[in-house]
Amino acid sequence: SRKWARAMAILREFEENCGTPIGKLRQVADAMTVEMHAGLASEGGSKLKMLISYVDNLPSGFTTDFPYFSYTRDQGNFPGIDFSYVVLVSYHVDKDEKGLFYALDLGGTNFRVIRVLLGGKHGGVVKQEFEEVSIPPHLMTGSSDALFDYIAAALARFVATEGEGLHPSPGRQRELGFTFSFPVRQTSIASGNLMKWTKGFSIEDAVGQDVVGELTKAMERIGLDMCVSALVSYLVGSLIGMIYNLVNDIVGTLAGGRFYNPDVIAAVILGTGTNAAYVERAHAIPKWHGLLPKSWEMVINMEWGNFRSSHLPLTEYDQDLDAESLNPGEQIFEKIISGMYLGEEIVCRVLLKMAEEAGFFWTPNMSAMHHDTSSDLRVVGSKLKDILEIPSTSLKMRKAIVELCDIVATRGARLSAAGIVGILKKLERDTVKDGEKQKSVVALDGGLYEHYSKFSTCMESALKELLGEEVSDNIVIEHSNDGSGIGAALLAASHSQYL
Ligand code: ADP
Ligand code: MG
Repeated sequence: SRKWARAMAILREFEENCGTPIGKLRQVADAMTVEMHAGLASEGGSKLKMLISYVDNLPSGFTTDFPYFSYTRDQGNFPGIDFSYVVLVSYHVDKDEKGLFYALDLGGTNFRVIRVLLGGKHGGVVKQEFEEVSIPPHLMTGSSDALFDYIAAALARFVATEGEGLHPSPGRQRELGFTFSFPVRQTSIASGNLMKWTKGFSIEDAVGQDVVGELTKAMERIGLDMCVSALVSYLVGSLIGMIYNLVNDIVGTLAGGRFYNPDVIAAVILGTGTNAAYVERAHAIPKWHGLLPKSWEMVINMEWGNFRSSHLPLTEYDQDLDAESLNPGEQIFEKIISGMYLGEEIVCRVLLKMAEEAGFFWTPNMSAMHHDTSSDLRVVGSKLKDILEIPSTSLKMRKAIVELCDIVATRGARLSAAGIVGILKKLERDTVKDGEKQKSVVALDGGLYEHYSKFSTCMESALKELLGEEVSDNIVIEHSNDGSGIGAALLAASHSQYL
């Protein structure tokens, strides 16, 4: 029909505007490299924050089976350094990391509380338990107190389920690694101020606050609240004194990836949101005026979700989505490649437009459907069938929807690949020098990467296409399992007060 043809024209136009031919991807990769330089040159020099989280002595080819992360506890030794915090990652085997550790992973719409029992030097992770809790939408845009009260209460309830043999040793406080997946400027290992919210969160009174401080205050509040069960309120007393370590999920993912594979040079998270971190040479960071030896390497948290470039293929739907979002003008890269936006936002908007063009929402259709008194809603059925061809019997509509998903996912996946190539270019790992066989491993994590295989396959083939056969042989994409969860617990263990 004519209406169907109009709906299909919408799809074709969208497809065209989403195009990611190889030439465009190269421009995006180049723009990423340029922005990385700019963000490293000066504070605020780029949309990319390029947050420095100093990492020294990253293990390379180490032999222990346990990572040891240690942070400097304050910045007093390095006056004038504006980097957020210092992570010293080394393969320390003197300590006998064992005991019970907690982690709290606040990601997009869920958070997880994790309990890990470590068996000491060669025991690794003996036991691990976790619970996933979804965050009610109203708390994502409410007040800081409301959000952190909810998190604190869930943590207290989880701690209350400590089973046989899963208690902290006598005289020890519980220790927790807090993974906070939003841009934070860290001031120490146990504190950091929220720079801005992303991924659908917008809680104004939390911006600029120390997130660990907000959590500990919430612990105190629920400790005073008589509503919590007797067991929980008994426990909360000990939780108030809990020892916290703050870690950004992307830094955890990179450190965790490096632990398992010394060739890891970068990490990318594709989940509800997206971010990347990589290992930079210290001398290549002009904005860092530190006193530390310049031969050291540093982990840079790129906050790449905020990348934008005139080369990104943006459509009217992306512009509408952005304008109606909680953070217009920000996180543009995130808004075209990450899980929070692909389906609910982009596919949904295009489909809606197609339905509009097909006349599906014409008021006479609406009233006809509304007035349908037949027991099996025959009129509604026939409208759906005639206009939108929605019933599962319509192969045509099903195909169009699949195609729409393909267009949106393909664009996101290919642009993600271009972003990774941008990092490789920055590190001069995008070419093969003198037949060198040095592997460059990129650690990937996040629900989108993990569960959407068409997305990850497409991303990996775009990488091959961009890099060419010979270079691709040296680039490895590796799934880094749960750097933000287990990684945080390991972090808590490795600089435990008691070890
Ligand atoms: P977060 O980014 O919040 O830490 P995850 O890394 O676990 O969380 O990613 C969760 C996100 O991954 C979901 O919001 C969703 O967008 C995406 N996702 C999860 N499962 C799938 C799937 N089967 N297909 C596509 N995307 C998925
Ligand atoms: Mg996460």
